[in-house]
Amino acid sequence: MASDQLFRTITMKPLKKPPSKEDGLEVYYLHELYLASLAAYDETDFYDMAQHIVRLAVNKLDFDRFGVLLYDDVTETIHGTWGTDARGNIVDESTCHTPATEKLSPIVKEVRDRGQIVVWEDTPIVEFSETEEAQIEVIGQGWNAAYAFWYAGKPVGWIAADNALQHGPFDSIHQQLFRMMGDLLGESFRQIKQNNEITQLNQKLEALNEQLSKEASHDHLTGLPNRKLFYQTFDKKHSFCAREGHCLAIALLDLDHFKCVNDEFGHATGDSALQALAQTFKKVLRNHDFVARLGGEEFAIMIVGKTRAESLAVCERVRAAVEEFVGPAAGLRQPITASIGLYHREQPEDVSAMLKYADKALYLAKDQGRNQVVAFE
Ligand code: GH3
Ligand code: MG
Ligand code: MG
Repeated sequence: MASDQLFRTITMKPLKKPPSKEDGLEVYYLHELYLASLAAYDETDFYDMAQHIVRLAVNKLDFDRFGVLLYDDVTETIHGTWGTDARGNIVDESTCHTPATEKLSPIVKEVRDRGQIVVWEDTPIVEFSETEEAQIEVIGQGWNAAYAFWYAGKPVGWIAADNALQHGPFDSIHQQLFRMMGDLLGESFRQIKQNNEITQLNQKLEALNEQLSKEASHDHLTGLPNRKLFYQTFDKKHSFCAREGHCLAIALLDLDHFKCVNDEFGHATGDSALQALAQTFKKVLRNHDFVARLGGEEFAIMIVGKTRAESLAVCERVRAAVEEFVGPAAGLRQPITASIGLYHREQPEDVSAMLKYADKALYLAKDQGRNQVVAFE
């Protein structure tokens, strides 16, 4: 069976013009509410959404006065968002906060207990006032309505309307519209809240990922890049030097008689010395000279774009700084020294060759008495 026999395409004719009040109030009201519900999909801020709904209610749907309130059940406080003042002007009420005591507003109890539409005839009509002593002011007598919206099993706010201006009762159309606006706001509240929660979770996740990837590539004790990051960085520096025709050098540094430091002064002192060594690298090396802890008390420095003599000078500066700073920084009277083996190439070689010859030079430095720099010939 061909698919066109299964499905018939129904073409909806677009409306020639949007309905007006002459087409019947019900059609007109529903169309306006429909437009507002479309706008709600894009809303990311509940206060903006509340403003839309208040404008819709007052300007299009012929409500006298209309307000959107948020309710915090932890602090038992009502927070204003947008509403209408005693003369029906639309006003920003986001600075209005008032305790949610049942004495002040019987609506609070009704909404909390039942959460349904609540309409009273002939009850006091109240208005938020900015004065400190009376936060709610009675401005007349008439019809009141409230309808709560809920989130996660709790009432989180409600819409309120009264007929303080025209004094007409809420007819059945307006009771229906009122209920629909409450549901629309509740849905919007849920959507915005969940989107915000998802955004916050994503931010936390990103931060956690960043931290994890840093931990995976850095040494815990010194904060320096670890062996894995050393190899990754070598690849980059190697390609860069090969492409740009720069020299590349690798220096291997190993602390001298470090076992004795641990044995004599304890492991904690040894750790402090390793941390002081990392600080020393920071002081002496430039940003693009990369240093990593390969393991134990052995470190590798990559020196980019320097002549052999300049690279030797860098190593010598490091050696002298270690001798000067590391021992005292670890609380010792005697200096801690390091031996350094340097391998410098005009054209970089692969990592294993460069490490091998730097290691040979380091071995020579140890052999010739330590606390010195030896370059591989
Ligand atoms: P050499 O001059 O020949 O290098 O002598 P050395 O004692 O430094 O060499 P050896 O390889 O025998 O000892 C290295 C010492 O480094 C042994 C180990 O306890 C110490 N070490 C390695 N990693 C750490 C660390 O994270 N913390 C501390 N405190 N000590 C460490
Ligand atoms: Mg050592
Ligand atoms: Mg060693």
